[in-house]
Amino acid sequence: MADRISESLQQKLSARLAFYKDIGIDLFYRDRTSMSRPTASIEGLSPRTGESRDSGVEYSAAVVDIEITESITVSMMPEDTLPKTPRIPVPLAPAMQKPVAPKIVLPAPKSGLFDASDKISGDSMLKIRDDIGDCTRCKLHKGRNKIVFADGDPKAKLVFVGEGPGRDEDMQGLPFVGRAGKLLTQMIEAMGLQRTDVYICNVVKCRPPENRLPEPDEIKTCSPFLLRQLEVIDPKVIVALGACAAQTLLQTTRGISHFRGQWQDFGGRKLMATYHPAYLLRNPPAKADVWKDLQMVMAELGLKRGAKSTSAGKPS
Ligand code: SF4
Repeated sequence: MADRISESLQQKLSARLAFYKDIGIDLFYRDRTSMSRPTASIEGLSPRTGESRDSGVEYSAAVVDIEITESITVSMMPEDTLPKTPRIPVPLAPAMQKPVAPKIVLPAPKSGLFDASDKISGDSMLKIRDDIGDCTRCKLHKGRNKIVFADGDPKAKLVFVGEGPGRDEDMQGLPFVGRAGKLLTQMIEAMGLQRTDVYICNVVKCRPPENRLPEPDEIKTCSPFLLRQLEVIDPKVIVALGACAAQTLLQTTRGISHFRGQWQDFGGRKLMATYHPAYLLRNPPAKADVWKDLQMVMAELGLKRGAKSTSAGKPS
């Protein structure tokens, strides 16, 4: 009886191994290190009962399990009289092993401005503004009213970088003064700071028409000024507001959701990418994520929430 069962099981096992080979699993070796995962019974036998589901033949002497772990293990476990048969571990092919989450490694900024050997000697905000002049380097100059250079403290430890001026900013010549700007101001105050404590600027300094995103050629032309500004300020933390700023500074095309909320390296400085305030106006639930990101920034800067804030509190 036992021989008959054993022979039947071996046939089933052979058929199963052939199946694995058919689907590309043909690397088998013995490995007894991993034997503790979910089980699946061989077709025709219900697990651990020894009863056939289709033939009525009794298999009271043995139960067959296939354990799926880092290896697939076929075991034959006699209930009483049969001698113990060896467990035969079969490894999974690499494609079936537990996937390891890839570590996100963003490329270092390629701008030479962050290479010590290429720094502009004696650079200053005045010089940068002077160099911009009445700029016509890219097509954005055609529709602008005012160049929006920056606002805040040029010695700030914290810099916010947005994508570009909107209508209100274009009229006033200051960044983040419209509705989104008011929300940013609230967030800054919720961090226990004032706008004058931080530095605020954009990737491009002229308003894109209809508030569209800056185009690659415009970013390429204008962003060197931003990089020079950051180099002169030498902040401890940079907060990139929105995908355009984050992708420009990190030189990546990855979506912001891939790295939002995680510290990134920017030329030896810490960079936190988070959602743009204009996005928060359209998607208020995302404020909670931004607030989490800003709390990480506060911790990095040693800030206590609301030290100077009055009514702003957590952005609402
Ligand atoms: Fe010049 Fe920048 Fe304005 Fe383009 S966006 S015109 S590069 S200042």
